Amino acid sequence: MHRTHTCGELRIEDIGTTVTLSGWVQKSRDLGGMTFIDVRDRYGITQLTFNSDDDETLRSRARELGREFVIKVTGTVIERSSKNAKIPTGEIEISVSNLEILNESKLPPFTIEDETDGGDDIRMKYRYLDIRRNPVKNSLLFRHKVTQEVRNYLSNLDFCEVETPYLIKSTPEGARDFIVPSRMNPGQFYALPQSPQTFKQLLMVGGMDKYFQIVKCFRDEDLRADRQPEFTQIDCEMSFVEQEDILNIFEGMTRHLLKNIHGIEINQFPRMTFDEAMRTYGNDKPDIRFGMKFGELNAVAQHKDFAIFNNAELVVGIAVPAAATYTRKQIDELVEWVKRPQVGASGMVYAKYESDGTLKSSVDKFYDQADLLKWAEATSANPGDLILVLSGPANKTRAQLSALRMELGNRLGLRKPDEFAPLWVVDFPLLEWDEDTSRYHAMHHPFTSPKLEDMSLLDSDPGKVRANAYDLVLNGNEIGGGSIRIHDKDMQALMFKHLGFTPEQAQDQFGFLMNAFQYGAPPHGGLAFGLDRLTAILGGQETIRDFIAFPKNNSGRDVMIDAPATIAVEQLDELSISLKPVSK
Ligand code: ASP
Repeated sequence: MHRTHTCGELRIEDIGTTVTLSGWVQKSRDLGGMTFIDVRDRYGITQLTFNSDDDETLRSRARELGREFVIKVTGTVIERSSKNAKIPTGEIEISVSNLEILNESKLPPFTIEDETDGGDDIRMKYRYLDIRRNPVKNSLLFRHKVTQEVRNYLSNLDFCEVETPYLIKSTPEGARDFIVPSRMNPGQFYALPQSPQTFKQLLMVGGMDKYFQIVKCFRDEDLRADRQPEFTQIDCEMSFVEQEDILNIFEGMTRHLLKNIHGIEINQFPRMTFDEAMRTYGNDKPDIRFGMKFGELNAVAQHKDFAIFNNAELVVGIAVPAAATYTRKQIDELVEWVKRPQVGASGMVYAKYESDGTLKSSVDKFYDQADLLKWAEATSANPGDLILVLSGPANKTRAQLSALRMELGNRLGLRKPDEFAPLWVVDFPLLEWDEDTSRYHAMHHPFTSPKLEDMSLLDSDPGKVRANAYDLVLNGNEIGGGSIRIHDKDMQALMFKHLGFTPEQAQDQFGFLMNAFQYGAPPHGGLAFGLDRLTAILGGQETIRDFIAFPKNNSGRDVMIDAPATIAVEQLDELSISLKPVSK
């Protein structure tokens, strides 16, 4: 038997018991007459003692144990003389009578401790060692808890978990597909799913009624910070539902998670239209844990001789709470911050709303107190606040001010990790103009149903058509999104037409779906949550990496197994693939 207990289990009540433990050597201390070893497993750490009464071979073997050796010990639980209140086993130790080395270990390349000396790269390369550390191990356990709660909640509501295939067909819409060559069909390729979207809709046609799946999805996108080429969704679909039903069920799921994981009861799931989110926060996933709402200033800033504002499509500001005391240097630093290429503003105007009620701005030459008071009113500034104003093309300026708002939210400590503020953003536009291809793209995906009342605009003003699409936002992150789907063949064909597909292309790529719609497709809709992000946010973290057992690095590489990698010429031949020399 390898163990009677885990290394996290024994307590004062167990004194006198003979036990066997197995685990890794966390550290050893040799204090002349006594040798102490900390043995660790997933469940905790227990102190082992060897003293001068023990036989000499046992003690000398104990002294030779290196870090991360795998050992098995048998001994008696005794009370510790100097107790350690920091760990649950801190009142006891094991007086060891038998020690067996199950495996030796090379000296690990970084310390296996909560605060490690290992940098990111080395930890990724030896991820199996990193997983032994509490922060990573606990993140994985936390993720398990989240998925378990998700499965409980959905299963209790009669959702059925169904697996959909990973080897599917490439489609042009959305991100780029990862492609898998088919050996049996030379020149033909599978694609890995970007999401199980069409399959879950087919499951609805198949009468499954309520589906979910915790499923890997693959997108060959340009990497952004904290994006993974493969990631996990909680993918869901329901039949005979309207938007309201879906929002209720998944509000319930989010509430269930917050309650069961954090003991927090959240009853407020405010809703905001996409337009309103863009106007008030410059962003379709606003963090509403803090204010600094946008105030549009066109009406109160374009009546003087200040050409920069007069020529701008949008003049918009925010009031930074209690920041009127910022020094010139601090404000200049913020101006430089918005001028960085990542943000891209050309400059920033400010007005200090002094606590005595007077206003002092960087454009005093153009605007008097009465003007500036109107800015204060529009940005809901209070005396003591600092008003920051950007101007330019509407969309761009909103994005810049949104970036500044988030930065200030972080700097001022307004984005508290233990506070949770969910928000539904609804009424997304159906279509989005794409400058590169000069055509409309589906903002969500081509299966999303337009709002029937907006259908008449589809020809005249396609950008104005709203969709029955919604996102669930938590603390400034989109954690889920979905839509009511089209379930009518003709409507789906019309949508493909508006997205620039010829009938042949639509048939070729999505014929299977439109055919299925001819056999009694029920009204249906759903959504998908990003599990990695959801887990990270629930865990109070901003990055997803530690919640994934074996993540890729920021260049999309797995540095532990060294992938992607070249393959042998024979393998390429078998797949009927010949490589062009890589162009540099
Ligand atoms: N398949 C969609 C996505 O991956 C989610 C949905 O519409 O249910 O974003």
